[in-house]
Formats: sequence, C-alpha cells, structure tokens
Amino acid sequence: MNDETSNSNDSRTAGQPEVKAGETDVTSGTAKKAATKAPRKKAAAKKATAKKATAKKATAKKAAARKAPAKKASTQTAAKKATAKKAAPKKAAAKRQAKPASVVIVGAGFAGLGMAIRLKQAGVNDFVILERGDRVGGTWRDNTYPGAACDIPSNLYSYSFAPNPEWSRSFSGSNEILDYIHYLVDEFDLEKHIRFNCNVTDLSFQEKAGLWEATLEKGEVVRGRTAVMAQGPLSNASFPNIEGLEEFEGKKIHSARWDHDYDFTGKRVAVIGTGASGIQIVPELVKTVGKLKVFQRTPGWVVPRPDFKTPDWHKKLFKKIPASQKAVRQALFWTHETMAMAVIWNSPLTRVAERLSLAHLHNQVEDDWMRRQLTPDFRIGCKRVLVSNDYYPALQKENAELITWPIARLAPNGIRTSDGVEHQLDCIVFATGFDVSKSGTPFPVKGLDGRRLDEEWHGGAQAYKSINVAGYPNLFLTFGPNSGPGHNSALVYMESQLDYAVKGILRILDGNLKMLNVKEDVQQRHNQRLQKRLAKTNWNSGCKSWYLTEDGFNATMFPGFATQYQRQMAQFEEQDYQLVPA
Ligand SMILES: Cc1cc2nc3c(=O)[nH]c(=O)nc-3n(C[C@H](O)[C@H](O)[C@H](O)COP(=O)(O)OP(=O)(O)OC[C@H]3O[C@@H](n4cnc5c(N)ncnc54)[C@H](O)[C@@H]3O)c2cc1C
Repeated sequence: MNDETSNSNDSRTAGQPEVKAGETDVTSGTAKKAATKAPRKKAAAKKATAKKATAKKATAKKAAARKAPAKKASTQTAAKKATAKKAAPKKAAAKRQAKPASVVIVGAGFAGLGMAIRLKQAGVNDFVILERGDRVGGTWRDNTYPGAACDIPSNLYSYSFAPNPEWSRSFSGSNEILDYIHYLVDEFDLEKHIRFNCNVTDLSFQEKAGLWEATLEKGEVVRGRTAVMAQGPLSNASFPNIEGLEEFEGKKIHSARWDHDYDFTGKRVAVIGTGASGIQIVPELVKTVGKLKVFQRTPGWVVPRPDFKTPDWHKKLFKKIPASQKAVRQALFWTHETMAMAVIWNSPLTRVAERLSLAHLHNQVEDDWMRRQLTPDFRIGCKRVLVSNDYYPALQKENAELITWPIARLAPNGIRTSDGVEHQLDCIVFATGFDVSKSGTPFPVKGLDGRRLDEEWHGGAQAYKSINVAGYPNLFLTFGPNSGPGHNSALVYMESQLDYAVKGILRILDGNLKMLNVKEDVQQRHNQRLQKRLAKTNWNSGCKSWYLTEDGFNATMFPGFATQYQRQMAQFEEQDYQLVPA
C-alpha cells in the first residue's frame, strides 16, 4: 500500500488564491480517535511498510516535479512566512488566518476516506474531511441492525488498493466491514484530517476567490480550492409516507438507526419493507420476538447467497501470496460482470436468472399460496436483486406472518391494513430505505452566477461522467448521477471516481487554475447518450423503484458494465472542460 511524502503540500499552498483573515485552520482540526484497531496482523503491516517505502519514493518524485511550475509562488509563500515570523506579537491573530485547504471532502464513509487515501498517494496532504457523525464508517456505522451484511462478496466489496486477507466470511457482516474501514483510517493515517460533528449545510462557490465554502451547522465556514461531495447515496434514512405515523404509541426503529437497547424478546413486532435490509432483519428478529408480521408491498427477486466461512488456509494463502487474493477478486469481478447481462438488459440470461430465483423459491417455500405472494411480477433486475438463504425459511416460522394487504394507516396500537384489520404491535421496524437525491441535493449547492444545483436537478439529476456538473467548477461528486451499479460492487465504481477526481484536482492545483468547469454542451451530449441507453434497460422497464424519480427519470444507474464505467472514467479529457487560470 502506498503513502505520501509529508511535505508535498507546500507545492499546493504555493499556488493558492488569496487567503482571507478570520478562517479556521481546516487542516489542524482535532479529529476524534478512531474507535477500533486494524483487523489485520503483522504480516500485512510489514508488507504495507515495504510498499509504502517504494510508494513514498515515487510520490516524492512526483511532488518535486509538481513543485517546479509553482516555484515563484513558493518563494512568495516563503517571504510571507518570514514576515509572519517577524510579526511575533501578532502571532495569535495570524494563527487564525488559516489557508484554505486544497480539498474539502464532505463525508467519512468509504468514498470520503477512499478519496483521502488516493489524494495522499498523489501527494496532496492539505485536505480536510468534514463528517457530521462522531465516527467514520457511513453506511456501516449506521446500519448495525441484526443481520446487516454486504450482498457483494467482501473480496470485491473492499478497495483493491487495500486488500484484507482476513475476511471471516465470503459476505461479511457490518461489524467486520466497519473494522475494515477503521483499518483504512489507521493504515493511511487519515484521522488527523477528519473533523467530526461537522454537518455541512451549504456548499457555495466563491467565483472571485475561486474557492468552495462549506458552511457547517454551527456557522463556521471551511474553505477549499476544490470540493468533493462524498456524503453518500444512502445516508439519510427515510420513513414511509403513511398516515398516522406519529400516532403509533409503541416503539419505532429505522433499520439504519438501530436501537440496541430495545429488548425484542417476546414482543409483537412488524417489519415494514422487504428490500435488501428487510430481508436481512427478518431472519434474525424471528428468533427472539413473540410474533413477527412482515408487511410486503412488492415481492422482490431473491437468489441464493453463496456465503461460507473463510477457511484458514485461504487466509494464509492470501497473506503469503497476495496475487492469489487478486485472482479471487478478478474471478468475482467477472462473475458479476456476466450478471450484468441478466439484470441490466433483457436477454436470455435474464430468463435464466429468473428461473434460478423461482427454483430457489420453490425449494424453500412449500405452500402454493405463499409462493404466489412471494412471486415478483416485474422483470428481474428492475429493482435490486435480493440475496438470501434464510429469508423464505424465516417467513415460514410459526411466529412469523407475511401480510400483503396494503397498509391503510398507523394507529396508536398498531397498523391498520386495507382489509380492515388492526394488527396490534409493540414495535414497528422500518426497513424503508433512504432519501436518495435523484432530483435535489442533500444541502444547497451553489455554483457560478447564483446557480443552485437542487433547482437545476428538480427534474432529475444530471452530471458529466457522474462526477462534474457544468456551472459548479472544481467540484467532484462521488456516486453522482448515473453511477449506480446494479450488478457489481459499489467500490469498483467508487475507485474509478476517486482516480478521476484526483486527476481533476491535480490539474487544478498543479496548473494553478482558478476554475475547471465542464462544458455545458459536453454534459448535455453525455446525458442524451446515457438516457438513450437507459431506455433499453430493465430498470426502465416499468416497475417502481428508488432508482427512478416519480415521473420515471433514471438519475441513479449507469447503463453498462463496470468495465465500461471504468473505461469512461479512465480518461480525463481536458478538452471537455473550460480552464480558467488563477
Ligand atoms: C445496508 C446497506 C448495505 C449495503 N450493501 C452494499 C453491498 O453489499 N455492496 C455494494 O456495492 N453496496 C452496498 N451498499 C451501498 C453503500 O451505500 C455503498 O457501498 C457505500 O458504503 C457508500 O459509501 P459512501 O462513502 O458513498 O457513503 P456513506 O457510507 O453513506 O458515507 C457518507 C458519509 O457522509 C456523511 N454525511 C452525509 N451528509 C453529510 C453532511 N451534510 N455533512 C457532513 N457529513 C455528511 C455521513 O454521515 C456518512 O458518514 C449498501 C448500503 C446499505 C445502506
């Protein structure tokens, strides 16, 4: 694994636009200690150190090369430093006149941390990560419900530049994924860059200064020459729009805000939602509750989960011969790529996948009526394909009941369904997903000439290659519009985004640019092509899903193989951008 040279940020500060007084030093914010330690052992650390040494040399070379064009500005900075030294009595005031960071990153989930790692490896060290929570981890900090786990194998649902030879299972649980995230923080020394409890409420581009300003909930403004929005596609829990939501007097728990103090033993519990989280929660809850009622609106396609404990010899082999783990990752990658032909487009493989899923249903559910209730009426892939071995068996436990009548409203003691029954409950678990920014932004984002991204996106979000938006210079999005995978690991897509963003950021910093702004017509053409391709996908084949806006616009998914996405992101085509020097 690589690391960075510790002094390479000098080359960044050299070319920075003018600094205003009264700003907080974003790079010296006190970061809270990462909660847990690395999941891996000494062997990995040794290997990492060796790699680091090589990487450091390479990074130092790169950083030195980048310093050259900024030499003049460097001299100015040195002069400024000398002046500051002379003005000793004003030292305290001067301390507060911090410089803007090279990069402001919003969010310390996989994407924000991955961004930080890639920046460090590229020699950019003066960045700050603003995280609204009090710990890192994003999805895996928030989703701690019983049964929470990834549904893409861990060897693929991890960063290729930070392999973990010690995954305990093929599909790891949320705790282990969170440990891996903490390991990333430790291994790449990210803690000092993170500022916790910093909820970004506004992001505005200051054209004159060529700076992004992130306003925090408490009023503080953090400035950066570039900004990365890594606030996560699924980080804001959403409750359904059901009448009487506030009237229910029992316990309400959202899957992404689990209450570990609540004792479910013997309770009458409802689970609303049978998507990816719901089907993981049900098999666990059914073990402890008195009665479990599962409220299903639409049954999903469920396929078997090839989950097994990692044999010790695998771990040893991965540690001893890292190429063996790479080979496994490659095999998993290509297996998932093949699945694209079943889930993204309507092909003969789609029929095969549907038959496999129906056979799974037949094998696991004996009762004809129940099977009918659980048979989807839309094409596989249109919604996220569910992966489970224990969901169907759990539904057939004596204390479980599948309810398919639509929910009419919540009442003080339970849920009323449209058949007139009131289901008496102690607790309702909402496995109802997240507010996904398909036609808005999670906080106001303001670009050139007073443009507001939520207004521009109200009909459906659009970007260039999912990462830049015309009129919002020097801004990079992770999991921006049309970057979602339906068949492969989100982290594969994320890596491509991170590397693309690094290229753009280096172009801005090294070229001393005030603005790197994607051209409007380039963005438009890109989206016309995307939407044409999306029209032919299973996602747009008529089912209702969180991938689409209310009026059916697909602003979330990438209509292609992961390899096509990687290819799209591999080239940074400068001619697609307007470059404005500082
Ligand atoms: C239960 C669950 C299981 C999943 N399983 C898989 C899987 O198996 N495979 C797969 O490919 N994908 C999976 N995903 C998708 C998953 O979201 C992504 O894989 C990935 O974790 C997203 O990382 P992220 O960093 O983009 O977002 P997040 O992990 O959501 O991190 C975003 C961070 O930004 C912070 N933040 C948000 N808003 C602000 C703000 N205004 N100011 C400051 N900080 C802010 C949040 O607190 C959070 O820490 C799953 C998602 C969920 C919910």
